[in-house]
Amino acid sequence: MTDDPFGRWNLTPVINVSGTMTRIGASRVPEDVRACVDRILASFVDMDELQSRAGAVVARVTGAEAGCIASCSAAAMTQTVAACLTGADLARIEALPSVAGERRVLLPMGHMVNYGAPVDQAIRLAGAEVVPVGTAAACETWHLVDALAAGAVAAMYVVSHHTVRENELPMDVFINLCREHGVPAIVDMAAEYDLTGPIELGASATIHSGHKFLSGVTSAVVAGNSDLIRATYLQHRGIGRTMKAGKESVVGAMAALESWEKRDHGAARRAEEARAALWMRELADMSGVSVTSHADWTGNPITRTRITIAPREAGFHAWELAARLAARSPGIVVRDDLVERQELYLDPCNLTDAEAAAVAVAIREEVDLFQARGDGCRQGWSDVKRAREAAILSWSGNRDVAL
Ligand SMILES: *Cc1c(COP(=O)(O)O)cnc(C)c1O
Repeated sequence: MTDDPFGRWNLTPVINVSGTMTRIGASRVPEDVRACVDRILASFVDMDELQSRAGAVVARVTGAEAGCIASCSAAAMTQTVAACLTGADLARIEALPSVAGERRVLLPMGHMVNYGAPVDQAIRLAGAEVVPVGTAAACETWHLVDALAAGAVAAMYVVSHHTVRENELPMDVFINLCREHGVPAIVDMAAEYDLTGPIELGASATIHSGHKFLSGVTSAVVAGNSDLIRATYLQHRGIGRTMKAGKESVVGAMAALESWEKRDHGAARRAEEARAALWMRELADMSGVSVTSHADWTGNPITRTRITIAPREAGFHAWELAARLAARSPGIVVRDDLVERQELYLDPCNLTDAEAAAVAVAIREEVDLFQARGDGCRQGWSDVKRAREAAILSWSGNRDVAL
């Protein structure tokens, strides 16, 4: 029997040109991390000891007092909030999601977004009540001060391209106001490269996914002050049990952090820039298709290639091109979250040079086909939205699934 899952279970290979999307497997895990995970999978280890060693690694890399590893960032959001609700009191930990007393958790309204699931749900799962602060495109200091004065067990700040950043409270202002009111500030920055910034600013805890830019296995790195981290880890005796980080997650995150520390980031960036330059070159001069360089929305050191479609001139919509690319074999998955603005993004961080070249060839082929056949601009955005929703619901988990 082959140990290649693609052949064994008839899976469709995917070229990932969308970055670190969890829905297609997040990241390509480097050899040194995989070797470490492989070794622990064949062994036994005291999980408390392993997590305390992980804490030392997390503390070193992030500059925090303490740290632990959770099963993913969504779980870490729930467990850090739970920690603020219970402290290290095991009776309260076992009682969750029932909470005696204060259970308000503040969240800027513009940060109440969906990263694949709603941010507010990860907070509510612990038993907390979410209190939105400000409005979608304006969170002022007086909104936060007013909410803090009314009482809260924690406040969550989200750094992500998903959030509304017009008129948001800067993170340092947010953290300082929380500190003045004695309310722990938890920063969810699952996909952000900056491992140290919020801790320096005085955040009580930060959350980073192990499987996104860190390219580890599915996990989350939780860093913060000792009391909060201890109470977060103790949740494994309560609601955290449903979000267990196994030995492979913990070792995978530790190895990924150390691999990240050692990595030649300059060389990685130069390789990414070369891929982006190839796209800029190879995708120029197509009718109705323009390519531009686009710096990351939240300041991560990554430059994507933006493809903007002028549907009348091109003869197809951006979402039709994305769908055709995804339907190829191997499937090519581009960043399509702004597709209704007729924009697609190519992310250079998670693919090989050969794959990057194949992506350019495939895009030209699909554009040529649309233009030769003249069968684009058939599907409006509302058709696509309906089809996407139907695709989510059609998953049946048993025979003959057509996804
Ligand atoms: C990806 C993401 C999450 C969830 O991360 P997982 O580790 O996949 O659970 C939470 N918040 C933000 C901002 C994200 O980008």
